[in-house]
Amino acid sequence: MLALELYRSVPKYVAARTLGERVPGLLAGPLAPLRLVNRDEPALPAEGWARVRPRLAGICGSDLATLSGQASFYFSSLVSMPFVPGHEVVGDMYDSLDGLPAGTRVVLEPVLSCAARGVPPCPSCQAGATGRCDRITVGHVAPGLQTGYCADTGGGWGSMLVAHRSQLHAVPDGMADDRAVLVEPLACAVHAAHRAGVEPGGSVLIVGAGTVGLLTVLALREFTRAGQVVVAAKHPAQRELARRLGASDVISPGDAVAAIRRTTRSYRLTPERGASFLLGGMDVSVDCVGSRSSLDLALRTTRAGGRVILAGMPAAGADLAPVWFRELEVAGAYATGIEMTGEGPVSSFDLAIDLARDAPLEGLVGAVYPLPRWREALDHAFAAGRLGTVKVAFDPRSE
Ligand SMILES: [Zn+2]
Repeated sequence: MLALELYRSVPKYVAARTLGERVPGLLAGPLAPLRLVNRDEPALPAEGWARVRPRLAGICGSDLATLSGQASFYFSSLVSMPFVPGHEVVGDMYDSLDGLPAGTRVVLEPVLSCAARGVPPCPSCQAGATGRCDRITVGHVAPGLQTGYCADTGGGWGSMLVAHRSQLHAVPDGMADDRAVLVEPLACAVHAAHRAGVEPGGSVLIVGAGTVGLLTVLALREFTRAGQVVVAAKHPAQRELARRLGASDVISPGDAVAAIRRTTRSYRLTPERGASFLLGGMDVSVDCVGSRSSLDLALRTTRAGGRVILAGMPAAGADLAPVWFRELEVAGAYATGIEMTGEGPVSSFDLAIDLARDAPLEGLVGAVYPLPRWREALDHAFAAGRLGTVKVAFDPRSE
């Protein structure tokens, strides 16, 4: 089968990390530790697994961080190489499996937790919080926090993958593929919105208006009674989308401190070095980018005792002084799990599938590429915000 494969290359890693920021074009070209290969289809690891043919697979910010060497070394022990990336997937069942006959359209819940690995459930999995699984390196398949980071399962950027029944959700009839492929990032946004712990009427700052940021606005409006939702967005197209999805105010990151000072009537201080910050500010901030500057902005504009959610894969190096001085609560929002709703606990994925039926997601998938054009696809994805595109995806069926 045809697939894109990520392999270990220390020289490319170092080069991508050092040169990539200055010369972004190199990231999708000679520096990417990625190659198009013809490899064997992944084998079924055990009972309860089936083959799935991806129809569309998204390119995620965490994929780009991995390719550009910006991801923390912390994750190196949580993956197995070489792997086929791609964890945002809509596809067709190739085998029949327990209520999902061959041909059924499915979306993938990518976490490879205890159920998939065939080991007794860890405490988190027992509680339904599969994103917090402790057993992601043992059992039936090689280490890998998710499909798309595991050497044994294949991934969405290939023409076949294997998935466990616990990872598969049927797509409602009539939901278009370019909507279904957003269910995974939407489920992460649903989880982030629940982790945000916004009180009714509380103010929220969303830093970043890529896929995660935009879908988090949508999820906050659906699942919380947040008051003001302010989005810091770099690019004009993102600002328009943020409004469409429920933002009450959209600001540019460069003016964010000043704008939040005005709306929250805070004091603004400017230290001898580094960015200015507020005494006062938003009740909750959600960093949907994961860069040093995005986290700095979130930490510096959240009120004392407020909450900061890390919803993007974080880079190192943010200044934690405000966490101490302002007694901020900093919390992660990784992947998905189970959410407490008015009707009891519901999986983030089920909530996302429901929300994806009617939400204004038209046009969010802005470009689709066949696998052989992967360099163009990655170039496009690295520059997506500037080009007015939200999500770039592969169609692994087309040549
Ligand atoms: Zn587990």
